[in-house]
Amino acid sequence: MTGLQQFRATDIETAEEEAHTLESILVSGDRDFVITNGGAKVQVSDLLGKNILLYLSAFQSSSCHILLPKVVQAYHENKAKDEAFEVIFIPIERDHATFEQYFSRMPWLALPFGDQRISSLLTKLEIRDVPELVALGPNGQIITKEGRSLLEAYGMDTYPFTDDHIEDMVNSWAEKLQHTLHCHELQLTLRVSYICRSCWITGYVWVYFCQKCHFSLHPSCVLREGTYLIRR
Ligand SMILES: [Zn+2]
Ligand SMILES: [Zn+2]
Repeated sequence: MTGLQQFRATDIETAEEEAHTLESILVSGDRDFVITNGGAKVQVSDLLGKNILLYLSAFQSSSCHILLPKVVQAYHENKAKDEAFEVIFIPIERDHATFEQYFSRMPWLALPFGDQRISSLLTKLEIRDVPELVALGPNGQIITKEGRSLLEAYGMDTYPFTDDHIEDMVNSWAEKLQHTLHCHELQLTLRVSYICRSCWITGYVWVYFCQKCHFSLHPSCVLREGTYLIRR
């Protein structure tokens, strides 16, 4: 494929993703609602205009259990700042009791257990593995299907997940700094993946890194703790 063809293929893909609406993603026939933890129905039309995160997850997966507390924290922090933020759990569950148990730990909305819309949604969004977070804009357009790695790379500051916001955020980070957890200067660096020596969780993309010792810290861990000095 030539560069130009590739460019055009990407363009078409982007156009298709932008063409999604909240209804085309979440409504099928008379199935036009999501549910609350108490089992009440919320119409999909009532969610128009919101910034939505689809949380695709399965109780059986240990990665889902690791991600859940981060999404719960992101939910509370973002909800306090932005009423128009919502999370919808898309359950990939085998039995109803498991769904009930898992959903009871989530303070947000869900598609009902076993709903026919779940498998068509997985196909539409081309989801191959869970957990995943898909961010939708106010009209249902797909902002990103890689919300999980963005949340893991950048923490809560990623919201609302748009390219412009992420670029501004990265530009605001110091290029070099000194952190109390390490004796050498750390440089803002791009790496495929690493283990953060503050929280011991895998990080992706951006890292505060010491080349000499291969010491890595998540930018979100560095900035949250505030225990650093900026080097210019
Ligand atoms: Zn960390
Ligand atoms: Zn070092």
